[in-house]
Amino acid sequence: MQEYIKQLPELSKDKHKENNTFFAKLKRKAPKNLDYLMQELHEEEFSKTNCLNCANCCKTTGPLFIDKDIERISKFFKMKPSSFIDNYLRIDEDNDYVLQSVPCTFLGADNYCSIYEVRPKACREFPHTDRKKFQQISNLTLKNVAICPAAFNIVEQMKKRIQI
Ligand code: SF4
Ligand code: SF4
Repeated sequence: MQEYIKQLPELSKDKHKENNTFFAKLKRKAPKNLDYLMQELHEEEFSKTNCLNCANCCKTTGPLFIDKDIERISKFFKMKPSSFIDNYLRIDEDNDYVLQSVPCTFLGADNYCSIYEVRPKACREFPHTDRKKFQQISNLTLKNVAICPAAFNIVEQMKKRIQI
C-alpha cells in the first residue's frame, strides 16, 4: 500500500488529461443510474481498502472544520470553541477553518484517529465517492485521486464502466 501511495501523485498526473475529459463528458451527460453505480463502486473499493493501512488523507491534507464540527469537537475536549480554534485551527485563503498543520494532530502513529467519533464531517465523507450527483464534484475528485488510492481506483473503474 505505501509503495502505491508514493506513486499516486505521478500516476494521477499521467491520468489527468484523460480524467479531465471523462469528467467534462460526465457533466454534460451523466448516466441516469450514476448515483447507484457510485454507491456500488464505492462499496466494492472500500470492501478491499483498509484506511488504517493508509491514512494518507489525514497525513497530507486536512479537512475543513465547519461550526458544528468545532462545537462538537471542543465539547469532546471540554474546551471552549475559541480555545479549540486557537490551539488547533487557522483560517485559510478561502476563509475556512483548517488544521494549523498536517499530518493531522489527531492522527495516531497507528493511523487511528483520536477523535474518530466526533471527527469533522469532511473526514467522515472523504473521498466523497458515494455522494449523490458525483459529477458535480469533479474538480475536487481530480485532486483527490492524487491523495487517495481508493478514489484513484474508483475513477479508473468509472471509466471502464461508464461509456460516454
Ligand atoms: S480515505 Fe483514501 S486516503 Fe484516506 S485513508 Fe482511506 S484510502 Fe487512504
Ligand atoms: S480528524 Fe481524524 S479523520 Fe480527520 S484528518 Fe484528523 S486524524 Fe484524520
